[in-house]
Amino acid sequence: MKINFEEIPEEGTLDVDFLENESEINKLLDEGNDGDFSFNSPAKGSFRLSKRGKTVFVSLHIEGLVRARCSQCLVDFEQKIDLSNDVSLFPEEGKEETKELDLTNEELEKNFYAGNSIDLAKLLCEEIVLYLPFNPRCSDNCKGLCPSCGKNLNEGKCNCTGRSKENPFSVLKGLKF
Ligand SMILES: [Zn+2]
Ligand SMILES: [Zn+2]
Repeated sequence: MKINFEEIPEEGTLDVDFLENESEINKLLDEGNDGDFSFNSPAKGSFRLSKRGKTVFVSLHIEGLVRARCSQCLVDFEQKIDLSNDVSLFPEEGKEETKELDLTNEELEKNFYAGNSIDLAKLLCEEIVLYLPFNPRCSDNCKGLCPSCGKNLNEGKCNCTGRSKENPFSVLKGLKF
């Protein structure tokens, strides 16, 4: 979903309700996160756009459910998204001038729009990727996988649970120096 810069009034705001089906969003999302997350229902958002000069200000609210893979037990789970943020978008033409300079962190996080086109779907995906945890976990007390046999310890103990609790240095006792 794209908004033309000219559609945003000089005074006041433009309110846009955003609804995109999951397959379109997932295509975009894949580019930013290597397929670790995907939507299994449409992505909903509301955007309030205003502008000053060439800078576009966006107040956004995004809701939805994404399927994520737990970084510890590797099981897929649903992660709720409910995020609000204010973002400024700058014309991409100005980006070239700052390229040569040392960019501060703040500038690296800047968002840009190309030509007159404000791509809300792209912005939505960028915001979601920033919002989602780097190492998602299915729950705060996920037990993960057994390092020896690979069993998901959330489903129960494995036969080697006792051994993994052993002091890792005990093996040194058997060694002769
Ligand atoms: Zn887990
Ligand atoms: Zn095990």
